[in-house]
Amino acid sequence: MSVKIIAPAICLLADGPASGAGVAVSGGRILATGALPELLAQYPEAMVEHWEHEVLMPGTVNAHNHSFQSLLRGIAADRPFLEWRDESLYKYSPKMRCRDIYTGALFAFAEMMKCGVTTVCDFFYLHNEGTAGDEAVIQAAHDLGIRLVLARTMYDWEGAPAGYVESIQDAYANTKRLMQKYPGGMTKVIPAPHSLHAATPEMVQAGASLAREFGTPFHIHVAEERFEVEQVKKQTGLTPLRFLDRLSVVNDAMKIIHGVWLDEEEIAMLGAQGGSLIYCPSSNMFLADGITNIPAYLRAGAPIALGSDGACGNNRISVLEEMRMVSILQKAKTCDALCVNYHDAYTMGTANGGRVLDEPIGQLLPDYYADFIGIDLRDLSMQPLSQGGQLLPNIVYSLQPTAIRHVVVNGRTVMHDGQFSLIDTAELLSRIKETMAYLEA
Ligand SMILES: [Zn+2]
Repeated sequence: MSVKIIAPAICLLADGPASGAGVAVSGGRILATGALPELLAQYPEAMVEHWEHEVLMPGTVNAHNHSFQSLLRGIAADRPFLEWRDESLYKYSPKMRCRDIYTGALFAFAEMMKCGVTTVCDFFYLHNEGTAGDEAVIQAAHDLGIRLVLARTMYDWEGAPAGYVESIQDAYANTKRLMQKYPGGMTKVIPAPHSLHAATPEMVQAGASLAREFGTPFHIHVAEERFEVEQVKKQTGLTPLRFLDRLSVVNDAMKIIHGVWLDEEEIAMLGAQGGSLIYCPSSNMFLADGITNIPAYLRAGAPIALGSDGACGNNRISVLEEMRMVSILQKAKTCDALCVNYHDAYTMGTANGGRVLDEPIGQLLPDYYADFIGIDLRDLSMQPLSQGGQLLPNIVYSLQPTAIRHVVVNGRTVMHDGQFSLIDTAELLSRIKETMAYLEA
């Protein structure tokens, strides 16, 4: 199989930045990383690609998104949560056909690719047409060339639009069929019981048992809003994580999203039982949810990854942006400049994304998928770099998407010099226009 070596100005290896280093790639995987002369000696037949002004770093991992929500961006902004939900999500999403779902996903994934995302986890719950909507999302990821983990939502709260809702039996069977069809690689499907306010305890347990059967993670929104805590307490006498523990689903497969309103004891329990957090700081700010107690999660040893959440509740969909936000928001809350440093934030947006999705991504290591990005060091947002130590702080705190020149997923260049390789931007724009004309008619 042919080998390609990428030779950037600097390589952000797992143990830190290295000048004169590169990455050897073959068959969609990283073969080796290290000093260029050694790589060239090891693979003399390799084709060499020079990224002379760029730093090569792992692609970022967007561990939580709802792709169709990109179509609803800017609608019902600045409203209380329930009003926002009714006037944007509940008003438009029931009308979405598979072609609209495809357009929304292509739109969302393309925009996040421009922001340096190479893997996205799409928490997807529009099931008007059974699994055809899931397949539309998968097709969009395929056509763009981004890696996808589809967190297939299991939802049985009847108060929501009918298309979100499935019986436990249907949700289980449909999710299982997709998990069998897409076990990993460029597309993996995992179960995602929506939340304690939108899935019955039996549905949550069905999702957790699918995860156990297939050895995958499962994702669930937990305590995003105070109303969920009040509701669960009223119904069960317990707070959300304590109730989930009573259902025997708090384990290392469980990846909770948001976790804003868990108390310290619950956070400690999550960590002790191996669970993880997917944190969406900008979304929590935009939707006025509150501020997650990140220092408590760090103390509990729970891995933390980052998500953008849907584009109508953020409204950006960049993980580099979330790296900046997790650090500066937590500093503002705690008045402690050291509580989340740039290195922590970078790890959350890269390596920890791989951990919560259980995929070999987010680090430049042999046998990991060849998913990485090239950042132009000449972009003003990356300057100055007079001392070696500025590189990572600049990536986390000042980088603008204009700096991202290359995106490589599975060894294939899917964005070159800021242009998509596999899709046409003008065509995407006309698709968005056509979909919006239909949805707003
Ligand atoms: Zn969400």
